[in-house]
Amino acid sequence: MTGTDVAARAAAGFTATYGAAPAGLWAAPGRVNLIGEHTDYNDGFVLPFALPQRVVVAAAPAASGWQVHSELTPEPVTFGADEVARPGVLDGWAAYVAGVVWALREAGLPVPPARLALASDVPVGAGLSSSAALESAVLTALVELGGLDLPVHLRPALAQRAENAYVGAPTGIMDQAASIRCQAGHALFLDCRSGAVRHIPFDVAAHGLAVLVVDSNAPHRHVDGEYGARRKSCEAAARLLGVPALRDVTISDLDPALARLDDDVTRRRVRHIVTENQRVLDTVAHLDAGRIREIGPLLTASHTSMRDDFEITVPEIDVAVEAALSAGAYGARMTGGGFGGCVLALVDADRTAPTATAVEAAYEMHGFPAPTARVVGPGPGAARL
Ligand code: ADP
Ligand code: MG
Repeated sequence: MTGTDVAARAAAGFTATYGAAPAGLWAAPGRVNLIGEHTDYNDGFVLPFALPQRVVVAAAPAASGWQVHSELTPEPVTFGADEVARPGVLDGWAAYVAGVVWALREAGLPVPPARLALASDVPVGAGLSSSAALESAVLTALVELGGLDLPVHLRPALAQRAENAYVGAPTGIMDQAASIRCQAGHALFLDCRSGAVRHIPFDVAAHGLAVLVVDSNAPHRHVDGEYGARRKSCEAAARLLGVPALRDVTISDLDPALARLDDDVTRRRVRHIVTENQRVLDTVAHLDAGRIREIGPLLTASHTSMRDDFEITVPEIDVAVEAALSAGAYGARMTGGGFGGCVLALVDADRTAPTATAVEAAYEMHGFPAPTARVVGPGPGAARL
């Protein structure tokens, strides 16, 4: 399904639901994180890029309240200021939309009453951030439809608030920042402490390369509990080490810091975060210098660290990484929060099909359900179409 189809579906969904044409179409992409996993809530560094897959919102002003149609359900959902003011009243996907209205109103902005229709080709629940794409598309549509004064650099935090405080999912800022601020042909180097971003050239196609994203289709196992446990142990380690966050332990501080911790699990958690932050910095240095292939070993080292030190991978994920590397990938790693989700591999542009086939064959041999492979390049961030 191409992006054009998604825009056409959003427009058609709008017209079929409301009997009129939309005033405009706004799109926001899903994302994949090139490197920097679980570093966001440690005030560290991440390096996501926007996927070509995106959520498109068709929208028009309305007399009062908000009405939203999604392809996920036949009937549109209607809500007014009352529901918006009470987080928890709406559940399911409509909460993501109402959460954006809530966050904008909390920021004192006069959100316009509107009719919306959504279409998307971002796979849901695959770790490619369909939720942030949805929030970012709705937020961009409402801000521009209402002519609201909200500079782009302040938008990710509002979309994140919608997800954290209204939907109730404790996620970091990376997904919304990527969906809103990414640029085509670039990855987004984000300092999660300051919110500062830099666009890093990552034009894989121009270098004869491609990124293959393989969805393991593995069931997510204990994600919420394990995510919370990792967060807690990082925060506890920072307290023990007397720093505001693990971001403040640099690679040269690592050995003395580890020597001060007597619990082996905590030591490994800290080692992952500290080395992962350094790998993001090293990746940025290579990309700034135009050395895309050279990031391969950093990607693979990131995977090893997630597997052995942070312990957030599952067999399906490790098998996909091994198979991609055996098929000649420059590097491969799990991307996303873990316990399922996707693997990304950096490969020669003419090696995407054989690499995907190698992963499929390995899955068959292990008796795993078939994976889904997609070739992705860095696309643009949220925008009016
Ligand atoms: P991920 O962000 O990794 O895809 P999440 O569980 O964070 O997974 O978010 C998925 C949720 O986002 C869905 O369950 C649904 O509520 C919402 N969502 C995503 N895409 C759409 C869509 N096209 N229409 C309505 N809701 C959507
Ligand atoms: Mg999400």
